[in-house]
Amino acid sequence: MYERRRMWANAYLQDKFCAGFRTTSRCEGVNAFVKKFSKTTHTILELVQNLELVVREYRNKELLLHLNSMNSVPVMTTGLTSIEQHAASVYTREVFTDVKKQIVQTVALILISKKRCLNTMVYTVEEYEQPATRIKVAYGRSTGKIHYQCNFWRKNGYPCRHMFFVMKSEHVTTIPDALVLQRWRLNVKSIESYVERWAGTSEAGFLLRHGALHTASHRLFLIGAQKLSLFRKALNGVLTLCRELELEYRAFDNGGGKGR
Ligand SMILES: [Zn+2]
Repeated sequence: MYERRRMWANAYLQDKFCAGFRTTSRCEGVNAFVKKFSKTTHTILELVQNLELVVREYRNKELLLHLNSMNSVPVMTTGLTSIEQHAASVYTREVFTDVKKQIVQTVALILISKKRCLNTMVYTVEEYEQPATRIKVAYGRSTGKIHYQCNFWRKNGYPCRHMFFVMKSEHVTTIPDALVLQRWRLNVKSIESYVERWAGTSEAGFLLRHGALHTASHRLFLIGAQKLSLFRKALNGVLTLCRELELEYRAFDNGGGKGR
């Protein structure tokens, strides 16, 4: 079993994170994690313990990415400002980065023909430098529905460059709602559910908060260790904050709080 650790570790993690819905890039992220830790463990027990750590670390990272999406505004760069802005407002930051690549890639598409059949526009496009591959995309002007030939959507769950090309050609300024899957949506509710879990008084609540703080501190460690002056500032800041927290914690404890 230990000999095959790479295989089952992958299955274990992908089931936790990917479960048939995550993108390939997400799975690659998990693979990189597995590679890193399966080299440094020697027993099954260590391995299982490490797997749990990996899971926690991964969740924390995801949570912080999510918080980042909520609190920062990206710079628009594609030139298709309306649609890009809309994408930034509906997708989590992580997915938006991938979506943006598809918007950018519309420049490499060449329009071959555009035919109208009642209210449906059928676009035929080819890729720059690949004149042999032709893709048809249909756009329903009254329904806003897009029908497409390529597999990208099924695989990734967000619109491909062909769809964006058609949206651009039709002067569409927002991505049709049906094309923004719930699982990639930047939504406030999921943050609230995290906060609810953070607020838990159980051991699980403690672990979640502990893990989130741990992950949030990585940047502090990284920057704080660069130079002596930064190190001093970071260390003083941490000590000051710890004193403040201790005071509050003690007041809470004396006031009949449960400690956690
Ligand atoms: Zn496509």
